[in-house]
Amino acid sequence: MRRKLAAGNWKMNGTNAALAELDRLQEAAGGAAEILICPPATLIAPAGTRAGRIAIGGQDCHAAASGAHTGDISAPMLREAGATYVILGHSERRADHGETDAQVAAKTRAAWDAGLTAIICVGETLADREAGQTIDVIRTQLAGSLPDGGTGANTVIAYEPVWAIGTGKIPTTDQIAEVHGFLREALTARLDQQTADAIRLLYGGSVKASNAAEIFAVDDVDGALVGGASLTAGDFGPIVAALNG
Ligand code: PEP
Repeated sequence: MRRKLAAGNWKMNGTNAALAELDRLQEAAGGAAEILICPPATLIAPAGTRAGRIAIGGQDCHAAASGAHTGDISAPMLREAGATYVILGHSERRADHGETDAQVAAKTRAAWDAGLTAIICVGETLADREAGQTIDVIRTQLAGSLPDGGTGANTVIAYEPVWAIGTGKIPTTDQIAEVHGFLREALTARLDQQTADAIRLLYGGSVKASNAAEIFAVDDVDGALVGGASLTAGDFGPIVAALNG
């Protein structure tokens, strides 16, 4: 019922030459899973024109539609450039720019208003996990970052343990199952069952071809948000293939 999603976050990587990876990825785009690439903002418009069956997204947006916010980009600007998704509340934004849950919620509302699907990121630090606070942290982040009005069409939740991002370390499948199970429960408690069941839950953090199938076999994992291994079709294609089964 939920369409699987393989989402790539290129972060601050890529100039025009990197768009050739989209052409190489087209072959992988024929399966049931949806493929999304979130390139740097400078590449969204050119990526949109050669994306074919691949969806294009932004990596952040401002909560306002326009105004005196030097260096920022708004949700309507992303939409006009060809994006249909936007990643919000990534741990690098939370750490580097001090983004709070309330700001993520405001950005999410702006994304929805512009017709974008928000991929809202939540995840614990290693200190949180070692202190036994993982579920509490996720509960607080989800409650504060997801505004009322979430649906399967406008919202995706990405569970990204901060300690697994770019480190090569991944949680055990039991640990992933625990958090994804909790996320589904929390959504169900807040929304009606049908709406909660329609929201896709992605796992993110050091996903690569060699571990993807094992992660995708976990209950309530509807795909992945992938950083480093999304930069080339050679690395991302096999992850998409694992998602397609
Ligand atoms: C990310 O930053 O969203 C991410 C999952 O990165 P990586 O796959 O490189 O760990």
